[in-house]
Amino acid sequence: MLIDLRSDTVTKPTPAMREAMFNAEVGDDVLGDDPTVLALEEKTARLFGMEAALFCTSGTLTNQLAIRTHTRPGDDVICDQLSHVYLYEGGGIAVNALASVSLVQGERGKLTPELVREHIQPDDIHKPITRLVCLENTVNKGGGCYYTVPEIAAIRQVCDEYGLKLHLDGARLFNALIETGETPESYGPLFDSISICLSKGLGCPVGSLLVGKTDFIKQARRFRKLMGGGWRQAGSLAAAGIYALDHHINRLKLDHSRARKIGQLIGQLPEVKAVFPVETNIVIFQLSENILATDYVELLAQKGILAVTFGKHLVRFVTHLDFTDEQLLSLEEKLKEGIVSRS
Ligand SMILES: *Cc1c(COP(=O)(O)O)cnc(C)c1O
Repeated sequence: MLIDLRSDTVTKPTPAMREAMFNAEVGDDVLGDDPTVLALEEKTARLFGMEAALFCTSGTLTNQLAIRTHTRPGDDVICDQLSHVYLYEGGGIAVNALASVSLVQGERGKLTPELVREHIQPDDIHKPITRLVCLENTVNKGGGCYYTVPEIAAIRQVCDEYGLKLHLDGARLFNALIETGETPESYGPLFDSISICLSKGLGCPVGSLLVGKTDFIKQARRFRKLMGGGWRQAGSLAAAGIYALDHHINRLKLDHSRARKIGQLIGQLPEVKAVFPVETNIVIFQLSENILATDYVELLAQKGILAVTFGKHLVRFVTHLDFTDEQLLSLEEKLKEGIVSRS
């Protein structure tokens, strides 16, 4: 039995989701008349209490469109050193937005109002103009840790004080919400834009949404076309999204309890030095200095367990819709047998 914990993106659409996709009414989304895309965009905007939404191929595209739309060339973006927008989007802040970055060393990828304040550029011709703050929730590189609404509200206050925009990379936002019990509606008023991914924990084959004000989304739609991201009969993919928002949010709790269980098991392995606190569906652990993550991932693969390296001695597991209790039992057995041979 292959146990694939490389990412929550590896899920395949369920039979019911495929059925919804098969039956979707479609049109031409570039011409603005795909009814299922329009329905998904409206549903998502309403969910967050925001005005409009834009359905896109990926979270990288929605993040990059947000940064491009909020900033002008030469502006400065504040984000954490571990953030996806900085580390994993091909240098897109520089390439797409022609903007610079002030990197914050937060706590496991999380910013605080004080850290944001410290990184705002002074009014000085030597300096770029601070325009935008980006948060990530949950934080991938932070081991899936999350913000609460009061923490974000305090950051929003600093942004208001300095006239800064606030964007959320919410690729795994629903994982945070299911833990805190907070609602999407409480997020809308805090942000100028929110990006969510349907292709992670929610189990869609493809798709992300950018949510914001009508004028902002209109401009982002122009940039999406400019970057070649306009798509035509995208309604089948949007149907998967609608299905996922209706059926796949509450079950994220299961992914979290399975991840916590994995965290406990991993913590007992002699070669494991530390496990990041498991708060959602991500388990990151640190190996002892004599074991490289690349070698360890290879040993895991030989046992039919797929994971990714997350640093020289760091390995990441992510639980998801296609990871079952049966697989968890099998994983438990394999871990108890041991991964590193002790000779
Ligand atoms: C996966 C992810 C994204 C978007 O990735 P795509 O593969 O482009 O959809 C953005 N932010 C975070 C934190 C992610 O984990």
